[in-house]
Parts: sequence; C-alpha cells; structure tokens
Amino acid sequence: MNKDQIQNLQQELSTAKKIVIVPHKNPDGDAVGSVIALYGYLIQLGHQVSMISPNDFPSFLKWMENSDLFLNYEKEKEQSDRLIEKADLIFNLDHNAFHRAGDMESILNEVDATFVMIDHHQQPDDFATYTYSDTSMSSTCEMIYHFLEMMNDTDKINPAMAAAMYTGILTDTGSFKYRSTTSTTLRVAANLVDKGANSEAINRKIYDVNTPSRMKLLGVALSNMVILEKYRTAYITLTQKDLNDNNFKKGDTEGFVNYALSLDGIVFAQIFIEKESEAIIKTSLRSKGDFDVNQLARENWEGGGHKNAAGGKSDLSMTETIKKLISILPSYEKELHEVVI
Ligand code: 5GP
Ligand code: MN
Repeated sequence: MNKDQIQNLQQELSTAKKIVIVPHKNPDGDAVGSVIALYGYLIQLGHQVSMISPNDFPSFLKWMENSDLFLNYEKEKEQSDRLIEKADLIFNLDHNAFHRAGDMESILNEVDATFVMIDHHQQPDDFATYTYSDTSMSSTCEMIYHFLEMMNDTDKINPAMAAAMYTGILTDTGSFKYRSTTSTTLRVAANLVDKGANSEAINRKIYDVNTPSRMKLLGVALSNMVILEKYRTAYITLTQKDLNDNNFKKGDTEGFVNYALSLDGIVFAQIFIEKESEAIIKTSLRSKGDFDVNQLARENWEGGGHKNAAGGKSDLSMTETIKKLISILPSYEKELHEVVI
C-alpha cells in the first residue's frame, strides 16, 4: 500500500463503519491472530466490527481474547450473510483469493463492499481496493503490526492484540525457525512482548496442550511415514480410520508434516489426510531451501501457499493419491537434488 492508499484508508476509517473481517478456511494461528488483532484495533476506532470465520478453528487457539466472538459461517450462515451484505468494508486476512474463504466465496463475490486484503501468500487476486500483499513477510500478523505502524497507531496495541499478533508470528515462523524470520520479524515480536504479549504463556498454550489421543495419532503418523531417499522426500498418510481410532479433534494433525521434513537430508515432505466427510484428501506440503512447494501444489494438488509451506487436496482415493505422488516426483528429481541445505 502506498502513501495515498494509506491516506485514503485512514479517511475511510475516520467515520464509523460496518466492518467484517474474514480469515481463510481452516484458520491457523496467523489467520485467527491477525483477525483478532485487527478487530481490537478497529473497535477502538469506534467501528461496528464482526469477525466471520469460514469454519471452526482448533481449540488450542481459543484462549485468545475475543476468539469467542467469531461467527462460524458453516453454522451461522444467515446472520453472517446479513453482516456481509451490510458491510461497508471487508478485510480479507491471511488469504488472497475468495476461494480460500470456503463457502463464503459466493457472497464475497456478490457484495460491493470496499475490500482490504492484508496477506503474505504468493500470487494475489486483484479483488481488493486496498491490497497490502508482501510475500517476504513472515506472517499476516507481522503485517498487521506494520499496518498499524503505517496508520501511526501502534500505541493502540493492547496486551490482547499483542498476544494475538505474537501468536501468528510464532506459529507461521515455526517458532522463529523458518527463513521468513527476519531481524524485523524479531524486532516486531520484541515490541509485542513490550506491549504485553507473554511469550512463555503463549508458547505453553499453543504447544503444551497435547492430548494423549493426539500423541497416539502422531505415533500412527510416524509409523505410516515413507521415506523416498531417491527424491529426498518423505510422506505421511493418515486414513479416516486412523483419525477415528484416535479420537481425532480439529487441529490434532497440525505440525505432523514437520516431523517428516525434520529428517536429515529430506528436502520435501508431504502429509495426506483423508477427510471422508468432504470426500477429499487434504494435503500439506513443506520444503527446505529453494524447493518451491507453492508451485508444486498449484500444478498438482489444486492448492498453493508459500514457497516452503503449501496446501492442497486430492479427489482420488488414498492409494491413487499416493500413486499420483510417485508419478509426479520424477519430474522434480533434478530440482530436489539441487537443493542446498
Ligand atoms: P497448511 O498445510 O498448514 O494447511 O497450509 C500451509 C500454507 O498453505 C498456509 O499458508 C495456507 O494458507 C496455504 N494453503 C493451505 N491449503 C491451501 C489451498 O488449498 N490452497 C491455497 N492456495 N493455499 C493453501
Ligand atoms: Mn499466514
């Protein structure tokens, strides 16, 4: 966003508006954190603000202040549609295309509100009047911080907003581990600690909330892991039965794919999770170095994301999906071997 756009947006926000904030479907820490932080800011400006999520989010994110105020579009469609239809402004956070908002896609396409996109994924659509898109950013939460800087309003960051933004930065950087963690990211995180984010408590609430059934499911995932040394690849499968047998709860498989990527010498990891209710296999892709899983997910798995972390889906059976993976890998063999780690 350039100076003129910031000024225009400041102008729009100088009078009370009806605002809706939307994260992507299956919201993660960054999506939920950025929405809550922006909500905290906009209500201080006196706006009427609603947070509408395309579907539910994991319970390990529900400690965040105001997380109980989200409407769930899957369950509260009529109320949500009414709010979206009346909205003057709609903020799309942590996604850059309406289809990433699941079933909200059609109503978002229909309404003529002013859209504001704040996002760090590759290849943004151009639906928004105000687009703040930066793929070099660690997280949308870091961008919300920079957005508040641009608005000259960092003094409005209260402890709840600071904790929400810290959470998104923490989860999207794999605990400050990924390449996207710049010195600026760390400075923003430090400023958020100064503004009241309790780093120890947030880490505990996000990462030390395992249940015995999740740990057992992780055991199943690890024993299902297959290593394809030739392609420096490891993949994990989880069938619906694996999930059912281990009392699966939303969010339980978060981070599992990283175990496959943590193997020495592996540069590409993929997990396949059967979702019988949607008749799809949801997949997550992760990579090290320059191997681009955003491109691979777009080309093969109807998905996308970032260079080193992407998602997608398969409409085939698990067996056919794995056959597809095996058939794809040879065309990436050279690239996989060129990765320097
Ligand atoms: P995850 O594997 O954790 O679901 O997602 C990894 C990254 O890829 C996230 O930034 C997420 O927003 C993005 N992503 C996940 N699934 C999809 C998808 O189906 N399409 C696109 N374009 N991005 C996705
Ligand atoms: Mn993100």
